[in-house]
Amino acid sequence: NSLIQRLEKAIVNVADFPKEGIQFKDITPVFLDPQLYRDVIKALADFSRGKVDAVCGIESRGYLFGIAVAMELNVPFILIRKQGKLPPPFVSEKYELEYGFAEIEMRQGQLQKGQRVLIHDDLLATGGTTQAAAKLVESQGAQVAQFSFLIALEFLQGQKRLEQFGAPIYNILNYQ
Ligand code: 5GP
Repeated sequence: NSLIQRLEKAIVNVADFPKEGIQFKDITPVFLDPQLYRDVIKALADFSRGKVDAVCGIESRGYLFGIAVAMELNVPFILIRKQGKLPPPFVSEKYELEYGFAEIEMRQGQLQKGQRVLIHDDLLATGGTTQAAAKLVESQGAQVAQFSFLIALEFLQGQKRLEQFGAPIYNILNYQ
């Protein structure tokens, strides 16, 4: 069985979560299968090997894979956190949600100028979160080199919001 098939089988679709009409993709069963987890990390790492100097992972599911990818690539891992969790000094970026705004933050001084950065999260939906993360990376003088996700919900067109960064996007699964 291919990785795509095994991952597809592991992901659980939860209807009407967190609200009505949303089909939530639950990725937590991946951690019940160490071989699958290892193969996911390998696929993500192979995409980025030799192409990035640092990995930024987005809270919180982006940490579960991003940190293992960074370790595999032997490059630094930097946490992008939701507002109010990081001690200063940090930089922040506001972005629009369906209702209202959210903010993400990153410690200042952890990314170096000129570094080629992989931005990783478990899932790409509208792209708002990842777009804000990419702006944070650029604000530090680093370069957004790649994006990776386990899953892209292509029908939400998050890819379009990432086009401005001119960086390749890799996702293992694609839902049309
Ligand atoms: P976006 O900003 O692209 O609209 O939303 C992406 C963010 O929401 C990611 O951080 C992702 O973890 C989370 N997210 C949205 N929908 C889902 C889902 O169906 N499953 C999972 N695991 N995460 C989701």
